[in-house]
Amino acid sequence: MKCPRCLNTDPAYFYHGSKGWYCRRCIQFSRVLLEEEKNPVSLSTIPEHAEEYTLKYPLTKDQSRISRQCAEGVKESDVLIFAVTGAGKTELVVESIASALKRKQKVCFAIARRQVVLELQQRLQEIFTESLVIAVCGGHTAITDGDLIVCTTHQLYRYYQAFDLLILDEPDAFPYRGDAVLHGIAETACRGHRIYLTATPDEQLLNQVKQGTLIQLKLNSRPHGHPLPVPVLFCAPEGFLLIRLLHWIHAHSNHPRMIFVPKIIQAERMGKALNLILGKCDVCTSHTEARDDVIQHFRSEPAGLIVATTVLERGVTVPGADVCVYEADSRIFDEAGLIQMAGRAGRSFVSPEGDVLFLLKERSLLAERCVSVLKEANTSCGV
Ligand SMILES: [Zn+2]
Repeated sequence: MKCPRCLNTDPAYFYHGSKGWYCRRCIQFSRVLLEEEKNPVSLSTIPEHAEEYTLKYPLTKDQSRISRQCAEGVKESDVLIFAVTGAGKTELVVESIASALKRKQKVCFAIARRQVVLELQQRLQEIFTESLVIAVCGGHTAITDGDLIVCTTHQLYRYYQAFDLLILDEPDAFPYRGDAVLHGIAETACRGHRIYLTATPDEQLLNQVKQGTLIQLKLNSRPHGHPLPVPVLFCAPEGFLLIRLLHWIHAHSNHPRMIFVPKIIQAERMGKALNLILGKCDVCTSHTEARDDVIQHFRSEPAGLIVATTVLERGVTVPGADVCVYEADSRIFDEAGLIQMAGRAGRSFVSPEGDVLFLLKERSLLAERCVSVLKEANTSCGV
């Protein structure tokens, strides 16, 4: 027996209710019988001119090349766009989306995080002015059909075999990463091909590339052409780290500054302390209520200061930001996370350099690897 929705085959998860068989592994999404899960949803057809789009800025030469190769490649195969943080990933798939819409194909853009869904829906609506772009995520589930659907990976359960093109943004991010049910649901929602977009692909995707089942397109430069900021490592006992941190905050006082810490409790304590010392500091963790408002406030300040946990490691772009990772040697951070956090810096045309500091209590191979990965990306694109 196999669940058509999450592809579970473990007999322990199946049970027989009064009406028939259910899969318990994906029952949190909706309680339907196994045979009902196979019902394809009927989605509206794509209207004329839906593929028309306008980009605010022209693509760079490298972006255009990847964009074209992706639109061609995805007609025949799944594609991995392996692009450094800040490379303008959304722009890279606009041509592929347009080409699918022109062929009257249904397209979905799925993202692990809700907050990014809402932002991306707006951006795509501004690009595809002739299409109805809808967001489907927690709090936005009344309308589930549009010409172009942007949703959280959690909402994909609604779309059995519905999409000809499924774009999975940052498949290596929590909670999609390593979640077999979400992977199964994403698999069955798509009847065509997939595009994976990430700066930090996991082993599974890289293995598919090696096996030849996934086309890899690599982009190592940002649109402004400046090198990626490479973290400076500073290793010392805790007391020294705090002094170094205060010095760093001061030295970058004309830029927005993001400080990442491993634990929620540290973020809260450090936020309070910095508030006392400096008079202002935002805090953002998974416990923060009205997180969107906090981020909005931080963004609105020309030289704001925020202490955050990994909740902000992806998806948040603050032009001109500098980044410090406190206790970057903590086991809570992985290599992908460190690269993503460093990647928050230097993303704007006005201030493309960005400064990244990793504060460590002990030497860390992961932090050192992160430095060499970023240096290598800079070397390979000749900047
Ligand atoms: Zn299931």
